[in-house]
Amino acid sequence: MNAAGNIAEKPAYRERVTDYYAALAQSRDPVCDPIAAQFVPQTAEHRREPAETDDPLNDQGNEVLPRLIHRYHDRVLLLVTDRCATYCRHCFRRHFTAGGAGSIGPAQLASVRAYLDDHPEVVEVLLSGGDPLTLSDSEVEALLAALDDETAGYVLRVCTRVPVVMPSRVTPHLARLLGDRGGLWLVTQVNHPRELTAEFCEAARLLQRNGVPMLNQSVLLRGVNDKLETLSELFRGLARARVKPYYLFQADLAAGTSHFRVAIEDGLTLMRGLRRRLSGLSLPIYALDVPGAGSKLNLETALVRVEPRMYVLRDADGREHRYPRTQAR
Ligand SMILES: *Cc1c(COP(=O)(O)O)cnc(C)c1O
Repeated sequence: MNAAGNIAEKPAYRERVTDYYAALAQSRDPVCDPIAAQFVPQTAEHRREPAETDDPLNDQGNEVLPRLIHRYHDRVLLLVTDRCATYCRHCFRRHFTAGGAGSIGPAQLASVRAYLDDHPEVVEVLLSGGDPLTLSDSEVEALLAALDDETAGYVLRVCTRVPVVMPSRVTPHLARLLGDRGGLWLVTQVNHPRELTAEFCEAARLLQRNGVPMLNQSVLLRGVNDKLETLSELFRGLARARVKPYYLFQADLAAGTSHFRVAIEDGLTLMRGLRRRLSGLSLPIYALDVPGAGSKLNLETALVRVEPRMYVLRDADGREHRYPRTQAR
């Protein structure tokens, strides 16, 4: 099939890419190019499997206030905007992202702060969306002020792909704003070694010089990074850029993403290979987020058995969860 045959005429989910990120693709064919795969809609994204939904992690069931998700005991996730600089074709939060909610306003921020003041068990706040760094500097400043470190003392995690898809947005002023907030970590999502450009590394250096520690969460994506060589190069490159590989995610059951999912057995084989090659510093945890578990599952220890159609996984409390096996095609 030629590239045109692989590209969806109409995307199943909002399409947008920065010029910078589009230029990293060597072809526009989403089936052959690991960068194009992440931003060019494929015909396959119109195929929805029975277990797939627009909200695979049940964000909506854990929403304690508009935009505030309290799923795990001591941490909350705040959806500060629905916008991204580039909409990933593998996005798992498509019930919210690009939905038009816009960015959080002062009144909503005040109710979030009130909720946190009422819940002293919460010690970490994840800022996500959408991408928090699509906000203006003054909006970021207002957000940090509402979640200040003097009186509140939360650890903040800014979850963003901006260093990957729009590194020029990481300006000295933005880096200083983030670095001045004690207890702030930046979590990015690099999925392929080709994303580790000079521009990405410069953005990372600027953040680090300003005191911002960085972590990376990759998503295991079929045809993008499901090879031992690719993942080794990716995780070593991240460590060299002083970005700690934190999680390698098994893909969630987002609608129209089955073409990206890798079988868990194959993910475990990749992890065994990585474990033999990489230092602990370079090695992430192979993890899956399942609704109803008290934390993310470490797939290297959580898999109990494989049934004909399901993987059976056990969480830290001994409860079992099921995740469908990818169908051979
Ligand atoms: C992933 C996630 C977290 C953070 O989990 P860690 O395992 O601590 O990284 C917090 N809240 C929600 C809703 C999440 O999905």
